Amino acid sequence: TDFKSLGLSEQILKAIEANGYEAPTPIQRDAIPYILKGEDIMGLAQTGTGKTAAFGLPLIEQLLANPKQPVSKGARALILAPTRELVNQIAQNLISFVRGTPLRVASVVGGVSINGQIKRLSRGTDILVATPGRLLDLVDRDAVRLDTASFLVLDEADQMLDLGFIHALRKISALVAKKRQTLLFSATMPKQIADLAKSYLTDPVRVEV
Ligand code: AMP
Repeated sequence: TDFKSLGLSEQILKAIEANGYEAPTPIQRDAIPYILKGEDIMGLAQTGTGKTAAFGLPLIEQLLANPKQPVSKGARALILAPTRELVNQIAQNLISFVRGTPLRVASVVGGVSINGQIKRLSRGTDILVATPGRLLDLVDRDAVRLDTASFLVLDEADQMLDLGFIHALRKISALVAKKRQTLLFSATMPKQIADLAKSYLTDPVRVEV
């Protein structure tokens, strides 16, 4: 299988090539065609499997296919991840994919000044990558609006639960658009994750690598 056969556009294929990716990893091969079709996904995959591109590339493709100016404080897609390091890594990866497109990527994490983040979010963004705690802080300060987000990605969901983010996840998912595509990735599938999947995903396609 090559990237071309997954249904990605020329523009995205160029971005993939610019990143030096030659062939899709198994999670990319299995998940990308479904994500492009708008399906919800329950993905069982570890880090290092190419997860970020698996959700990032078809997400970017869909945002490009529906050009829209982000509204003030709004995000068109929201990606939640458990730690600062992971958020930064995801954001860096996505920034390399959107190079040459009009899309903007912003990230917010705890442990750094919130004021710069408030300012950065004021003009809106296409893709927002965040840790749940800092994102809720920003919600409480009315610095971000999530009702414009029609894509929600929960990355490393099991780790987010382990870190005690379940209440934050519930609050945040109640704020994003009701009509949305949701992608959930987890390395393990304990009952809590199955419950989370049941309440947040609609007829999800299960992808396991
Ligand atoms: P991830 O699991 O998303 O953190 O990705 C792990 C590493 O693999 C990152 O450095 C990616 O840039 C790289 N990567 C992802 N997909 C591919 C691919 N199809 N070919 C080569 N490298 C890749």
